[in-house]
Amino acid sequence: MADSLAGTSIPIVAVNHRGAARLRGGHPWVYRSDLVGSPDSAPGALVEVRDERGRRLGSALYSSASQIAIRLLTHEEITEAALPERLRARIANAVKFRQQIAEDTDSYRVVFSEADLVPGLIVDKYNDVVSLQALTQAFDREDLRQLVVDSLAEHFPAASIVERVDPHIRELEQLPSREAQLVRAPHSDRVPRSSPSFGLGRESNESSKTIFTLNDVRFHYDALSGQKTGAFLDQRENYAAATGYAHGEALDVFTYQGGFALHLARVCGAVTAVDASRPALEVAEQNEQLNRDRHRCGEIEWIEANAFDLLKDYATAGREYDTIVLDPPAFAKTKRAMATALRGYKELNLRALKMLRPGGTLVTCSCSFHVSEAEFLEMLGSAAADASRQLRILEKRGAARDHPVLLNVPETAYLKCVICELLR
Ligand code: SAH
Repeated sequence: MADSLAGTSIPIVAVNHRGAARLRGGHPWVYRSDLVGSPDSAPGALVEVRDERGRRLGSALYSSASQIAIRLLTHEEITEAALPERLRARIANAVKFRQQIAEDTDSYRVVFSEADLVPGLIVDKYNDVVSLQALTQAFDREDLRQLVVDSLAEHFPAASIVERVDPHIRELEQLPSREAQLVRAPHSDRVPRSSPSFGLGRESNESSKTIFTLNDVRFHYDALSGQKTGAFLDQRENYAAATGYAHGEALDVFTYQGGFALHLARVCGAVTAVDASRPALEVAEQNEQLNRDRHRCGEIEWIEANAFDLLKDYATAGREYDTIVLDPPAFAKTKRAMATALRGYKELNLRALKMLRPGGTLVTCSCSFHVSEAEFLEMLGSAAADASRQLRILEKRGAARDHPVLLNVPETAYLKCVICELLR
């Protein structure tokens, strides 16, 4: 069902009582199953949302493909003509907030989608490379992409701007596939609006590469390399927290490009780091070269292996560590996968606890938003009990402050990082 407001061309989308309750409860998403009728709004259009009795709920961005059919922008009614100004202001607010809480780093998340009231847009800054990613049909609209690029160019005139692409998300949104590309070189004139290809090129070149710094630790970044993800900026403050407790012989499991390992190397006597991805470990080794002169340990031992197998083998072989970091990928991608995910987390934590020396530090993480902090702690408690170990919680942490949590949007509180001490 799509209708039009008198005098404007804004399509109306009606939602059922469940959808309306969600919006009134402060969550911006309405699932397709909670729409009344099937809207014929254009993909990515601004729509007016009404409840079944016709009461106004606000303005939202519509997706014709995703299960998340609408993402509310505001409880007011706004027109397409007012949309650019609203988005520009929200991006400016996001930038301003980061200037307050991330002033001591050159790299941080600039815009975190729902948590910055810009649902569907992610922007990360890695020193002088700013990368944007459109998660929805709306932010793939040529006019909105141009607006985002122009805003970012204004806020970060010395930075290159790169568009990154998640093929899976584009498929879900039924968007044509696209390659990651450089969309603006630093200090260049803006990309002409009529530019048919929008971008300046796909080649990885000097403008898409940089070295960035987290807590004084240096990392390579290439926005256009084959690697699917950039660095895990959300762990920035947890890296620093971990170094406050880490000591002795350390094991970093799921190291990716060495995030924790390179921090541990500053305070630990020996560091072993494990990941299943060879390309990630190759970057990790290059990162090690950038930081070697500051390392307390000798060379970091990088091991390409399945973490589950390796922990099993090492535990059986009686290996012991003073510090263990577990930072696995999201095991629970859906609510249904929860039970399996919790078993996976428990197995990892149980094996790690068996290898941890008394007085040792465990840094254990989960980035599955389906697993709440309470469930994660319960899993950890159960692993400790099975291993006959007493753990003292030193810190319960989340993502760095540049990945803020929106109170009524639990999906924004996805990362848990618990730091524990194994009591003697
Ligand atoms: N700790 C990292 C981020 C980890 S992301 C940081 O701070 O940057 C999760 C990592 O787990 C990815 O690098 C992925 O390659 C790796 N991974 C996924 N499944 C794995 C498995 N079964 N064994 C080992 N590594 C795995």
